[in-house]
Amino acid sequence: MNYVVRDPIKPTSDALLQSTGVDGVFARTGMFERVVDGLNALISRHRDTDAEVLRFPPVTSRAHIQRSGYLGSFPNLLGAVCCLGGAEAEIRAAVDGAKAQGAWVKSLEATDLVLTPAACYPLYPLVAGRGRVPAGGLVFDVASDCFRHEPSRHIDRLQTFRMREFVRIGSPEQAAAFRAEWLARAPGIADLLGLSYQIAPASDPFFGRAGRLMAINQVEQSLKFELLLPVRSAQQPTACMSFNDHRDHFGKIWDIATAAGATAHTCCVAFGIDRLTLALFAAHGLDLRMWPTATREALAL
Ligand code: ATP
Ligand code: ZN
Repeated sequence: MNYVVRDPIKPTSDALLQSTGVDGVFARTGMFERVVDGLNALISRHRDTDAEVLRFPPVTSRAHIQRSGYLGSFPNLLGAVCCLGGAEAEIRAAVDGAKAQGAWVKSLEATDLVLTPAACYPLYPLVAGRGRVPAGGLVFDVASDCFRHEPSRHIDRLQTFRMREFVRIGSPEQAAAFRAEWLARAPGIADLLGLSYQIAPASDPFFGRAGRLMAINQVEQSLKFELLLPVRSAQQPTACMSFNDHRDHFGKIWDIATAAGATAHTCCVAFGIDRLTLALFAAHGLDLRMWPTATREALAL
């Protein structure tokens, strides 16, 4: 199915997102959220019946993110929560004394929290604490507001955005089969929504020179695929979903064992909720009444 991008979303499209004065941080309008709600309900209808639902807050354990390897691989993207500590006099001095220069920022101290960078990261330590994974494996539906320090003027690269994920934990075969099923299923969802898509091999934006090798390795081993949709242009479509095979990366780090006692494999299918919503508006325009009937029905609009 081929659709033309009728109405490329401009950064100034106040009907959808309104500026907060910070790049990549927007207030979302009622119309935007109507579509977000419809999309989330549609995703829920595609959930495995035995999936466990967990919703994570926008902050997570700093120690966990460090141990999970996120800090090593993406130190440039991580945001940490800092606060003013100490006695009342110290805090007052920090805030009042140098307020004019904004120097209070220098008095901030790291807390044990960071901003959640991806919805599935807080899941692995939680599952590890439950003991062995049952023979049939596990499947989760997780979501979180995510933060990545990648300020940009582009409407599809936000600093704070919503991610929903289906995560499978179990044997290598169970994890691989789940990702393959979703790679086969996603085109049907894009068709239902009237979106022209491409699925392509991809890599994560690993940091630095060593990161470039990791990215090459990831593509060579087909560990990541993305579903790309036109948001800013049809020529440069945007990654709106990703299909990630972690192999035993998280299983090893968190010591997650299968029923048979082997290291568990994990995979996740991620829905970039804000990007998917922007792709829908880019394809069908700003008047919801004019959207294709099948799309409106799928989103209960
Ligand atoms: P990209 O290659 O665009 O930086 P990524 O490979 O880092 O994305 P994932 O880690 O796979 O992305 O995240 C899952 C999904 O979350 C992506 O497919 C995308 O839809 C969404 N996402 C990631 N980064 C952003 C962002 N900065 N703004 C909006 N959505 C994002
Ligand atoms: Zn994930």
